[in-house]
Amino acid sequence: MLREKGFPIYQNADIAKIFTYAGPEALKLETYEFYARGFAAPDNRTVFTHIYWDASNNAWMTTIATPDQVDASGKHQLLACVDVLLDELMERTAKPLMQGAYSTISMADSEGTLLYHPRHLAQIKSSEGKASIRSLKIDQDYPLLAVIPSLSAGKAVVVRERDEIVAVGMIPGTPWVLAVHYPQDLMRSAILDNLLIVIALGVLTLLVEIFILRAILQKQVAAPLARLMQATRRLGVRNERLERESLPIRLNDEIGELARDFASMADRVHNAHQQLETKVRDRTAALEAANRQLQLLSTTDGLTGIANRRRFDEVLASAWSASQRAGTLLSVALIDVDWFKRYNDHHGHQAGDDCLRSVARTLAAQALRADDLVARYGGEEFALIASTHRHADGALHHARTLCSAVEKLALSHEMSPFGRVTVSVGVACVIPTEGRTVGDMLEDADRALYRAKQQGRNQAVIAGG
Ligand code: GH3
Ligand code: MG
Ligand code: MG
Repeated sequence: MLREKGFPIYQNADIAKIFTYAGPEALKLETYEFYARGFAAPDNRTVFTHIYWDASNNAWMTTIATPDQVDASGKHQLLACVDVLLDELMERTAKPLMQGAYSTISMADSEGTLLYHPRHLAQIKSSEGKASIRSLKIDQDYPLLAVIPSLSAGKAVVVRERDEIVAVGMIPGTPWVLAVHYPQDLMRSAILDNLLIVIALGVLTLLVEIFILRAILQKQVAAPLARLMQATRRLGVRNERLERESLPIRLNDEIGELARDFASMADRVHNAHQQLETKVRDRTAALEAANRQLQLLSTTDGLTGIANRRRFDEVLASAWSASQRAGTLLSVALIDVDWFKRYNDHHGHQAGDDCLRSVARTLAAQALRADDLVARYGGEEFALIASTHRHADGALHHARTLCSAVEKLALSHEMSPFGRVTVSVGVACVIPTEGRTVGDMLEDADRALYRAKQQGRNQAVIAGG
């Protein structure tokens, strides 16, 4: 009895994604009854659209649309619908109960929109379902418009007209009005009263039949659809493996087939999701490692492997704030290799690089406290940050150990009066206060370094000392 044309699930927010083309035949979905009424349904009640002539299928159809539960904002997100061919029903409806009699179906609206009328079939089809009792001007010999407002579901009303006796009933649960028309001249007046009862009963039988058909549709189409909808929604909300039992997979019709397809699709989606998560985890770990490496590289000097100027600036800025808060002494030493241009010129640039690496390693070994930092400041200059000296003397002493450590390396420097590689150190030592800056401190250290050079090199000088 049922033939499903398709099973589209419409997602309200995604409608533009589903129908993106804007050609002359672009679907204006909001103008479709199943869509407008389905999304507007206040609960998850199934919507039966009116029966319509579908020109593309050349058949009578109705659309059954099942929305999901409204969410917190009071809106539906999904709408599942199935088009059902109703040819058999319509044929049966059209079949006269009695020679010369005929049936019509119309909407219970004020126009009397015609769904089926054997004598006006062409107009109904060509007007795409817009033809009505009013538009076809057949209301004089047709009592429906006057009777419709007084109809109640499941009850047949018999109206006597000039030429016809019309039995009218509302099909329960639908907005459809069924009318069976009997020409008056078919009947002899003597038996007319009895006949009326027979007619009314006949119409009632037909109504009940249609109602049963509707119930079957509800059970076979709407209920499984609702379960599929719920499953779709659950799948969207959390990535859980779908419970197949929750789907109508055992049905032997197209919906069952659809449910099975859906279940295996859901499995594939779930598996793909798992794989994706694993991949993302792996990639994230690799990325984090790369980031750490990058961080290290960006703060390390390429030639010597110790902290670079950037790291030095960062550490000095935070050490400055920390000492300022604590009111403690902060010292900075600028260390410059003596006569290094001559070293390069005499021993070669390559040897110069090696020398810088040795000096760097030796100086770094003099970063005695956890907070001490030795960095390459630039060229053949290095710098030390120390924040644990209690007095300027301690800072000066530390600077002198730097000089002697390099001297003890005993790297040959033939162009130096010392005969070996030495460094000069300028120290600045302050308790950071509001008016002073890191720049002031570095200038002081630089001036002290200049004095160390002036006074003969291979020595440490403290600013203000
Ligand atoms: P002073 O005792 O007054 O500091 O004299 P100096 O020759 O050390 O000072 P100057 O600033 O004239 O020369 C510094 C030299 O350091 C010049 C430059 O070629 C060398 N230099 C700077 N960076 C590097 C480097 O990465 N590798 C090598 N091999 N040499 C470098
Ligand atoms: Mg220099
Ligand atoms: Mg130098």
